[in-house]
Amino acid sequence: MLVVMRSDAAGEEISSIIQTIEELGFQAREIRGVQRTAIGIVGGVDGLDESSLRGLPGVSEIIRITRPFKLVSREWKPENTVVAVSDCVSFGGKSIPIIAGPCSVESEAQIIEAATVARAAGATLLRGGAFKPRSSPYSFQGLGIDGLKLLARARELTGLPIVTEAIDPQGINIVSEYADIVQIGARNMQNYSLLKEAGKIEKPILLKRGLASTITELLLSAEYILTEGNDRVILCERGIRGFDTPARNIFDLTSIPIIQGLSHLPIIADPSHGTGSREYVPSMALAAVAAGADGLMVEMHPDPARALSDGAQSLYPAQLTELVTQIKEIASTIGREVAALATATIGT
Ligand code: PEP
Ligand code: MN
Repeated sequence: MLVVMRSDAAGEEISSIIQTIEELGFQAREIRGVQRTAIGIVGGVDGLDESSLRGLPGVSEIIRITRPFKLVSREWKPENTVVAVSDCVSFGGKSIPIIAGPCSVESEAQIIEAATVARAAGATLLRGGAFKPRSSPYSFQGLGIDGLKLLARARELTGLPIVTEAIDPQGINIVSEYADIVQIGARNMQNYSLLKEAGKIEKPILLKRGLASTITELLLSAEYILTEGNDRVILCERGIRGFDTPARNIFDLTSIPIIQGLSHLPIIADPSHGTGSREYVPSMALAAVAAGADGLMVEMHPDPARALSDGAQSLYPAQLTELVTQIKEIASTIGREVAALATATIGT
């Protein structure tokens, strides 16, 4: 439930409403928007009689949020949430950050080369998994903490902020010490103990849509993170299971405008996992930007044939360079731009 205050409501009127809600036994959260201040009542509100709040000084209206998710909903917060990663990189505003890099961190030479290529191509962040949630226990599981250290080295050399995955609640703190954005992958979208821990850390979370999850389930998973206090969540469409086989997944472009209608959180697209094949990645990346995506994540490997994971969907370095150029054109057509790092960050 939301208590929307009048635009001219005084500070004391707002504090007094918060006090009343708490005295009635509910939890209140002040939400300062551009147009208005609202007070959200968190959790179940079944026992709350709206009439005890309606008509109090400064109250404009009371809105019951009927959707299953609350804190992530547009009703709760009409303005887009902009998740800042650094002074020049943020998701959810006019600029579109491009996250590029290999599926997995494999060696120092590989990740440094990938970072250098990504930086030169105009990508904004570097990706690379150090802890890999693989469908098969026999597949490469990642370099673990050594991989995190290599990512930090690549960031130091190129200035690219890093995105890397946490796969369990015990490991999220160490990942967040190194990462600029902590990824929660498709297989873990409904790992509720991991989501709760993600809600307690101080880093933005990139939450990928589950392998066969509905949009509502994705938003409810994001809600778990917000209820714990971390509202810096970036959602990611990465395709869902379908019945046909030419593409690895069904890349659900429609989810982008749908999610933007339902939620204030930024939504980015990952056409690499969405399609499973480098042949289809550029066209789907461009389509995602045209559809309004707030960012992109693409896999790129210096030598895809030798990649230890997801080689078939990893772009060649030259393909990334060409793709970034094309994305800039699409972005400018729709009044957006690709996020650029300050030149001074190179080699810092
Ligand atoms: C990844 O980003 O490499 C990954 C494992 O993605 P997803 O969780 O979407 O499968
Ligand atoms: Mn991958």
